Amino acid sequence: MHQADVIVLGAGIVGVSTAMHLRQRGLDVILIDRRYPGEETSYGNAGVVERNGFAPHPFPSSPSLIAQILFGQSSAVSIDLRTVLNMVPWLLSYRRCGSLKHIQDYARVMGSMRELVLEEHARLAELSNAQRFYRRSGWLHLMKAGPGFSAGDTERHYARVFGVEYRELDEDGIAGLERDLRAPGYKGIFWPQTESVSSPGAVTEAIWRGFVKAGGKFITADAAKVERTRGQWVLPTDRGEITSSHAVVALGPWSADFCRKFGEDFPLAVKRGHHLHFRPRSGASLSRPVVDLTNGFVLTPMEKGIRLTTGVDFSNRDAPPNKSQVAKAERKARMLFPLGEAVESEPWCGSRPCLPDSLPILGKSSKVANLWFNFGHGHCGFTLGPLSGRLMAELLLGHKTAVDVSALNPYRFDV
Ligand SMILES: Cc1cc2nc3c(=O)[nH]c(=O)nc-3n(C[C@H](O)[C@H](O)[C@H](O)COP(=O)(O)OP(=O)(O)OC[C@H]3O[C@@H](n4cnc5c(N)ncnc54)[C@H](O)[C@@H]3O)c2cc1C
Repeated sequence: MHQADVIVLGAGIVGVSTAMHLRQRGLDVILIDRRYPGEETSYGNAGVVERNGFAPHPFPSSPSLIAQILFGQSSAVSIDLRTVLNMVPWLLSYRRCGSLKHIQDYARVMGSMRELVLEEHARLAELSNAQRFYRRSGWLHLMKAGPGFSAGDTERHYARVFGVEYRELDEDGIAGLERDLRAPGYKGIFWPQTESVSSPGAVTEAIWRGFVKAGGKFITADAAKVERTRGQWVLPTDRGEITSSHAVVALGPWSADFCRKFGEDFPLAVKRGHHLHFRPRSGASLSRPVVDLTNGFVLTPMEKGIRLTTGVDFSNRDAPPNKSQVAKAERKARMLFPLGEAVESEPWCGSRPCLPDSLPILGKSSKVANLWFNFGHGHCGFTLGPLSGRLMAELLLGHKTAVDVSALNPYRFDV
C-alpha cells in the first residue's frame, strides 16, 4: 500500500520534470510508467533545447510540397492515406490554426515560455547531475535560398521582437561554422542561444534518478488501471495499491486514451518521426544540430553517432516504423554531410503528441476532481518539459505561475 499526495502518470521528460518539481516543493509523489523512464518519445528526439521557435510548425501549403507529399516524394512529410482520412477534422483545425491571429497568439505564449526554458533545463540538470549532457552549441537552420528562405521571416521577426539572437549565413559562413557540411545553394541561420544534448533519453533518466534521490517513488504500472474511488485516485500494481489525492496525466501521445475513460475528450493527434544513427565518414565531424528545413530532417551529434531525425509522418501511432521516410531523409542527408555506416539496422519510431494549435494542454479538469493535464507538447516537448513541469507544480499548489498559462487551458477547443 502506497499513499501519496500526487501520482504522476508517465515518465517521459514532461512526467519526470513534473514529479521533480512537485517533490522539490515538499509533496509525496509517486511517478509511474509501464516502461523504464525516458524510453519513448523523450528518448528519440533531436535533442534540441530551442531558445527560438516562435512560429508553429506550418501546415503544408505550397502546391509543389502538397504534390510531393501526395506522390510520396517528400522527405519532410509522409502520409498514410487511411490515417489521414481519419484525421480530416483534426487537419482542418490544424490548418485553421495557421491564421495570422493564431500565429500571433502562439508567438506571444512561446515568447514568454522560451525565455525560461534554458534556465529550467539548467536547474533540473544541476539537481540531477545531468550537466554533462548539455552543449551550448547553438543550432543551425539551413534552407535553400529563394522562397523557402522567406518562409522563415515570421520566426526571425519574432526573434527580433523577443531579443533572441541569430546570424544569417551564406555558404562560406555555413562552412566556417561546420566545415564538413556541403551546402551549395543553401542559406543558413545560426541561433547561438539554443542548446542541445548528447542523449535526451539519458537526460530524462537523470532527472528521474534525481527525483528518486530527492525522496520520490517510482513504480512500474499501467495507467489504464487507475480508478477514481471514494474521492481518491487508486491504482493496483504488482507492488501493492497506490492511492493519492491528485493525479497528473503526462502520458505524451497516449494521454487522450487515458482521459477518454474519464469523459474528457481532447483533439490530440500524433505526428510520427524516426531516427537512425550513423558513423561520420573518417575525419568528418559535426558540432551542433543542423536542420535542413527544405528537406525536413535534423542531424544531431549524439553519444551513439550522428542522429538523423525525420520530419512528420502522418501514420497510425502504433504502426511499424516507416522505413521509406527514413530512406528519403537519408538520401538527402548524405548530400549534406558525409555520413558513413548506419549504427542500427532498424530505425527508431516515436510520436509527437500534437494539438491543432501546436500548444500543450496544461491545467485542471473541470469534470473530474483533482485530475490535472500536462501533455501535447508536439515538436518541442523536450525543450518545454522542465518548464512545463514547474508550471504544473505551481498550478497544482495554487501558486502564481512563472508565466501566464491561460492560453494552455485544456478547454480552449470547446465551442
Ligand atoms: C523525431 C522527433 C524529433 C523531435 N525533436 C525534438 C527536439 O529536438 N526538441 C524538442 O524540444 N522536442 C523534440 N521532439 C518532441 C519531443 O520529443 C516530445 O514532445 C516529448 O518527448 C514528449 O514528452 P512526453 O513526456 O510528453 O512524452 P513521452 O516521452 O512519450 O512520455 C510518455 C510516457 O508515458 C508512458 N505511458 C504511456 N502509456 C502508459 C500507460 N498506459 N501506463 C503507464 N505509462 C504509460 C510511456 O511509456 C512514456 O514513458 C521530437 C519528437 C520526435 C518524434
